[in-house]
Amino acid sequence: MELYKIDEKGLAEAMARVMEDYRVVAPVEKGPKHVFDDIEDWSDARPMAVGTVLPPKKYAFPQRETLLRFTLTGETPEAEAVMDDTPVVMAGVHPCDIAGLRCIDHTLAGRHFDEHYGARRMNAIVFGFDCMPDEHCFCTSVGTLKAESGYDLFFTPIQTGGFVIRIGTPRGRQLFEKYFQHAEGAGVYEESLEADFRQRKAEAVTAHIDAPVDDLPEVYQESMDSEVWDKWGAVCFSCGSCSLVCPTCYCFDVQDRVSLDGSEGRRDRIWDACTLPDFATVAGGHDFRPTAPKRLIHRHNRKFNYQQERYGEPHCTGCGRCGRSCLVHINMVTVANELIAEQKGEEA
Ligand code: SF4
Ligand code: SF4
Repeated sequence: MELYKIDEKGLAEAMARVMEDYRVVAPVEKGPKHVFDDIEDWSDARPMAVGTVLPPKKYAFPQRETLLRFTLTGETPEAEAVMDDTPVVMAGVHPCDIAGLRCIDHTLAGRHFDEHYGARRMNAIVFGFDCMPDEHCFCTSVGTLKAESGYDLFFTPIQTGGFVIRIGTPRGRQLFEKYFQHAEGAGVYEESLEADFRQRKAEAVTAHIDAPVDDLPEVYQESMDSEVWDKWGAVCFSCGSCSLVCPTCYCFDVQDRVSLDGSEGRRDRIWDACTLPDFATVAGGHDFRPTAPKRLIHRHNRKFNYQQERYGEPHCTGCGRCGRSCLVHINMVTVANELIAEQKGEEA
């Protein structure tokens, strides 16, 4: 794969040109946190900021979107699908969130193709950036330290200043050739600097799951009756935050909004969360996951058991967002390690 390099000034000039033609979103400061938001000046972007409150998934799968509009006035109701295929450049997508998009693709753009998601996703241009972990990140435990694919362009900071650039798609090459005139060819030296950054990143990860990721489905299958779930379920608020910030969660509700005179309306899709009470309540009022421990078992098994068995990779990317957002410090690493320790007969 060809390698290029660009300095900070060249990158800013390239992004200014990209912004003339595209909607560009990137992590920006919001009080003490970072959020993905629209930018009009590259100096506002913090592309290496770790732990944006919500992942960039929200541009392909928004918190609320209108799926269709309908009228009820004629002899037969009429409905028209609402599709959004506006291109958006997502700059500052880290390897864990690139993996998160792939996980959502498994579900919404795989065997069952969701056209609303597909339209947005195909027009979501990914400018990946490498990053340094905080204490919540555990990418080294789940295979997301490095992005092998899933990006159009990928930028890795190097010690001599600027970034090494990798091109991941034909679309990425077109964008690179059109906008990145200040980039130069890079060679073995820059490749070693790129490897050096990744090595330092791996060494900076402090949270680790105490078992190979391939062993986790069995760990979770054997742990359905573990007291670990009761322990954490007893303090869980069932607030749903962990699910709502997750780059791989895709549960949603569908609601119809009809005008007061009943003549027209729209159908919206909004995020939902399996950790919220009543999520699993069905017609007749039966709730098949009525307690917090049962809801936690379900969520954690979705990440390291059910989806991992089905798609061949964990549906937890190690981004650490659920741990950052949980008021009672429930996080994937602690829970996994307690289950692993319990199975080994160690004190949890
Ligand atoms: S964020 Fe924490 S308290 Fe809220 S539902 Fe998730 S695990 Fe429970
Ligand atoms: S389960 Fe938590 S750590 Fe894993 S991808 Fe979701 S938010 Fe990130």
